[in-house]
Amino acid sequence: MGAWLLGLKKYTSSGVKTKMHLTPIHIRLIASLSTTSLLHERDSIMVQLGTLGAFRQSELISLEVCDWLTNRECDSRGQSYGAMVFLKKKKNDQEGKGRWKRIGWGGDLCLVRRVEKYLHEAQLYTHAECQKWKDVAMRTTPCGKCGPLFPMVYGGTRFNNKRERINAKHITNAIARMLTAAHVDDVGFTSKSMRKGGLLIAKQAGVPKALRCQQSGHQSNAHKVYESDDDTDTEGNQDLPKDNPPGSFWREHLYCFSQMFGL
Ligand SMILES: [Zn+2]
Repeated sequence: MGAWLLGLKKYTSSGVKTKMHLTPIHIRLIASLSTTSLLHERDSIMVQLGTLGAFRQSELISLEVCDWLTNRECDSRGQSYGAMVFLKKKKNDQEGKGRWKRIGWGGDLCLVRRVEKYLHEAQLYTHAECQKWKDVAMRTTPCGKCGPLFPMVYGGTRFNNKRERINAKHITNAIARMLTAAHVDDVGFTSKSMRKGGLLIAKQAGVPKALRCQQSGHQSNAHKVYESDDDTDTEGNQDLPKDNPPGSFWREHLYCFSQMFGL
């Protein structure tokens, strides 16, 4: 292959291996950076959410403003667990019901509060004509009214009126920008580093496979290579049920995955 072709290969995205995954240290460093622009804020939230929710890049791209819900699930004392992100019909979703990813409340670096602030300051509101939570039949189809949760940003500071959707390249760039701002070398990170990081960290923290599958939507034998190095359970330090209990997991268990990042 000619030298110029080799040079070209280096800059194309296809075939780039995901050698690195995002860890709690990366996520905490990124979350601690002070916001410099709308672009920074969108990127920071996208990378944090992508990791805590073990998102596929296509899932992040397709999120709409009305897919984010807070304060709907409360414990017996009426305290909210955090937020839920709804995914429309996706891979492995034979019944087409959609699925939830759950993000628990945090401390100083709480992601749920940060997303709420971002939505408010960027004026990303649920549209008055949105039918998603009014009509069950509309739930698993794109809303089309509210627009993307992470739209394209122009000049670092504004969304345009059309609220255009980002693509996979924007996610890869966002990860690189966030890591660079946090003084971390971004070599070996791709858009899969979020999902891979989320799954690996939860596993290392002793979150059982059944709970990891709830958050990530992955099946044990699917795309093992990048989604999880190994699906087996580690000796858990968590007081968590190993398998789906009768009547499904308790709500608080479902928030454990995101809490492993300790934000
Ligand atoms: Zn909507």
